[in-house]
Amino acid sequence: MDDCIFCRIASGVIPSDFVLEDADFVAFRDMHPKAPQHVLVIPREHIVSLNELAELPGTLGDRLLRFMVRVAEICGVKQSGYRVLTNVGPDGGQEVMHLHFHILGGENLGDFR
Ligand code: 5GP
Ligand code: ZN
Repeated sequence: MDDCIFCRIASGVIPSDFVLEDADFVAFRDMHPKAPQHVLVIPREHIVSLNELAELPGTLGDRLLRFMVRVAEICGVKQSGYRVLTNVGPDGGQEVMHLHFHILGGENLGDFR
């Protein structure tokens, strides 16, 4: 997906400072952070949203959860707490059509929404 910004980040076409990466996922800092720690976790594969992830066979979603907890640990928020968020579709406010999870922390995030 040459025209997908997150595919370009995942493949290294756009150089980024990865917080963590493995064969399936990369984590990098959001360019407009909404908390002291704000990292995006994406699959290397172009998957549009959580809806499409749920249709895939295999264990990608399970491995994604474990990867995100490793990211939280690296960011120093695993014990203090953090928020994991994915926006899906128009009402969810999804702007980039490549599945991504926001990991937010580093301060008390208060009530949701
Ligand atoms: P969404 O609203 O789709 O859940 O959030 C997209 C997020 O991606 C936003 O928080 C935005 O700041 C971030 N973002 C969009 N383009 C880039 C980019 O090129 N680099 C980085 N690091 N973050 C991006
Ligand atoms: Zn993509």
